[in-house]
Amino acid sequence: MEAQYTLPDSLTNNEILRYGRQLILPEFGVTRQQLLKSKSALVVGCGGLGCPAAIFLSAAGIGKLGLVDYDEVEMSNLHRQILHKEKAVGSLKTESVMRGCEELNSRPEYRLHQLALSSSNAFQLISEYDVVLDCTDNMSTRYLLNDACVLAKKPLVSGSALKFEGQLTVYNYKDGPCYRCLYPVPPPAHAVTSCSEGGVMGVIPGIIGTMQAQEAIKVLTSLEGTLSGRLFLYDGLRFSTHVVKLRPQQSTCAICGDKPTITQLIDYVEFCAALPTDNPPAVRQSQDERISVEDYKDKYLGRNNHILVDVRPVHEIDICRFSYSTNIPLNQLLNLSRSDLSQALQLPAETAGAEMTSVVICLCHHGNDSQVAAKYIKNMLADLTPLYRVVDITGGLDSWAKLVDDNFPRY
Ligand SMILES: [Zn+2]
Repeated sequence: MEAQYTLPDSLTNNEILRYGRQLILPEFGVTRQQLLKSKSALVVGCGGLGCPAAIFLSAAGIGKLGLVDYDEVEMSNLHRQILHKEKAVGSLKTESVMRGCEELNSRPEYRLHQLALSSSNAFQLISEYDVVLDCTDNMSTRYLLNDACVLAKKPLVSGSALKFEGQLTVYNYKDGPCYRCLYPVPPPAHAVTSCSEGGVMGVIPGIIGTMQAQEAIKVLTSLEGTLSGRLFLYDGLRFSTHVVKLRPQQSTCAICGDKPTITQLIDYVEFCAALPTDNPPAVRQSQDERISVEDYKDKYLGRNNHILVDVRPVHEIDICRFSYSTNIPLNQLLNLSRSDLSQALQLPAETAGAEMTSVVICLCHHGNDSQVAAKYIKNMLADLTPLYRVVDITGGLDSWAKLVDDNFPRY
């Protein structure tokens, strides 16, 4: 006689075997495994946070996984964006992440969204999913995702990683605050550091992205104890962790409050570029105070008609530098007195009657700090102009490596 069994409605024997270690958790069990299989998540950003988030959602048995990114894999991504393999450099990040997830678990439905999220497409896209994971690293997308999630009534699992530090929380979930409740206005653009400028240890987004997957699974399966209303802070260098209580949902919030003033998605790039007036604007050199990397090559390279001042931090100077450059990290340079500065640049003490002898050229990694340095030197040596012309190089060493000489390592 054939035995009669009562099995879960929507789990096959193969799935019971695959997810067995989760099924035997009393807090999770068959009910939540089935629930997870019926749910979907949208991972926005297939980078350092998105890779671990996506693969753990896939491994755990999510029903549908959406992947958003417009970018291609670069060599400098690989130390942290661990689903992209060496041979994927130059190919689409969404496809690369899907390949990695599919190799692990072919069961979920994967949807690729090869696009830059914008005010015109975000609401529609988010509406198709049950939870959204913010795995991006820029301020305007953070506000865009927040507002779209509030309007579409979707929880948002938000992560960030920079240097040795990571942060994690859940917005817009169970009466908790949204991102705007906490940050009604964006910080000034120049106060925001990106991973390409500030650096990031590869394992930090790995840790935070993995935790984003965990929070998303808890949200999708209605497990208690999410980070809604709380912020997790991790410092990998000191190994310190904190969970701080966030201010509650604000009735005055422009998007999720009682009388919202934002009822549809706005222009977030513009919104984030509007600097609060209590912060000084970023220093910017005018075009005629700057030279291109090609100009530098044609008019100055290898000639003693200029003083090249590399203002990157010492640990970046160590990576590679022009052998003849004068190296003064920006934070030191900005504290130099006039006499210290002219000594550091080895300017002649006597300038009376001197011909216009030289150009001081400031240089950094991407052409931001070099502008600040050039302004400072120009101000300090105001009495020497026009003996010395002070300029900086647009795009910095990264442009040099990209456009002029690929023997200079990019980082
Ligand atoms: Zn709010």
